[in-house]
Amino acid sequence: MKSNKQRRAEIKAHRLERAAALAARLRVQDVRLPQIEWAHPLDWEPADRLVLGLYNNTYSPLPAFYAARQFTCRDCGAEEVWTAKQQKWWYETMHGHIDSRAVRCLACRRARRERLRTAAPGANLLLEKTDRLRALGAAKPSAQAKSEVEAALQSKWWSLRVVAIQTMGRWGGEANLARLHAFMAARPEGGRRYFGWERVAADAARSALTRRE
Ligand SMILES: [Zn+2]
Repeated sequence: MKSNKQRRAEIKAHRLERAAALAARLRVQDVRLPQIEWAHPLDWEPADRLVLGLYNNTYSPLPAFYAARQFTCRDCGAEEVWTAKQQKWWYETMHGHIDSRAVRCLACRRARRERLRTAAPGANLLLEKTDRLRALGAAKPSAQAKSEVEAALQSKWWSLRVVAIQTMGRWGGEANLARLHAFMAARPEGGRRYFGWERVAADAARSALTRRE
């Protein structure tokens, strides 16, 4: 008859054996089937073709299900998985076009969104420049202020050029007023169909001169 001590030793040995066997099996599996690949066939979601049909004008057949897709991030080159759930959400909740695909990893998507968000302050920059130019018009023109107005007249933003013209009107003086008149004189003919900077400048100059009277 076996003693309790013997029995415990046997149970312990058996457990160790099983753990070793399991570890060996996992090792083999890891080598043969990288985790990312054998996860794919398991990850799928049924597609709702009715919803897809509502939002997709396409001749290509609509999918019956979504399976996880592997893709390489366009920005950082990371290997990523677009899960079946994410695809279902993209196509059926966000109504992404059925031909659209994930191209960036989450980190790069966030970084890109942040870049786009902070690129928008072009609008704030314009606002800042406009305010600054208006403030210059309230004081006597310094050489610095004059050169800022000249720079503003060359700006890619027409609205800033218009403020530069208004500033020249507020400053007055022979040279500035002569330039405003020159803008007016350069107003192109062509009625409403013509829209260009010369016409905008002429109208801005006229309104700046009218305000002076
Ligand atoms: Zn990335």
